[in-house]
Amino acid sequence: MSVPLPVRSAAWRELGLPGTLVVLDFDGTLARIVHDRNAARLSARTRRLLARVAARYPVAVLSGRSAADVGGRLDGLPLRWVVGSHGADWAGGAAGGPRRWRGRIARWRRALSERLEGLPGIDIEDKGHSITVHYRAARDGARAAAAVSRAAADLTGAVVIPGKRVLNLLPEGAADKGSALRRLAAVSGAARLLFVGDDVTDEVAFRARLPIPAVMVRVGPIPGSAARYHVRRRGDVDRLLASLAVLRDPPRGGRRAR
Ligand SMILES: [Mg+2]
Repeated sequence: MSVPLPVRSAAWRELGLPGTLVVLDFDGTLARIVHDRNAARLSARTRRLLARVAARYPVAVLSGRSAADVGGRLDGLPLRWVVGSHGADWAGGAAGGPRRWRGRIARWRRALSERLEGLPGIDIEDKGHSITVHYRAARDGARAAAAVSRAAADLTGAVVIPGKRVLNLLPEGAADKGSALRRLAAVSGAARLLFVGDDVTDEVAFRARLPIPAVMVRVGPIPGSAARYHVRRRGDVDRLLASLAVLRDPPRGGRRAR
């Protein structure tokens, strides 16, 4: 079980030292989860705080959305990396490439459309590198979840990762948030990292074996989380961002350490 994150602890203060990479999930971490997934966006406050953090640290956003989708919602922020599809979709470059999986994912999409046709409130999103079946809009959530799970179980070569009123389908052998975090650690050359996430696919990242120390924070504690720390709710992430920025603010009358 994770413990509440102590922002006065040595582990937290160490993040202020040079060489820290900040990695953040999007939905449920930076942005409130909303009924219409297309309406998810940063609040003005979160955007301002994230801008302050990104001016002081290299920041990566690691999301289940496609990189283009999540990147569009972070427009204007000086982020170093935007990685989508749970780690498979690197903005500006393909990791293993959509081409390798495209045929399989297109077959899954067709099979799911046939199986789930006529069930209201279900939305099949093909992200090129993965599929997310959304059922947040279904009136009978339990029935929708069961139908989606049954349909997904029949797909060949799919890793099925449930989320908050979604089911994510990733090709076996494709990147996940754990491998993406390892890759970010490598390409950034960071000495340590902070990762904040809120959902099942983030647990893969919390469990990742990394070559550098990491502070893992789950938004919304659950029993059995692999994250060492948690914060209670999405709004607490704003408090973390503010605290991170302050760690790199210059002492009164002094200069900021780089
Ligand atoms: Mg999330």
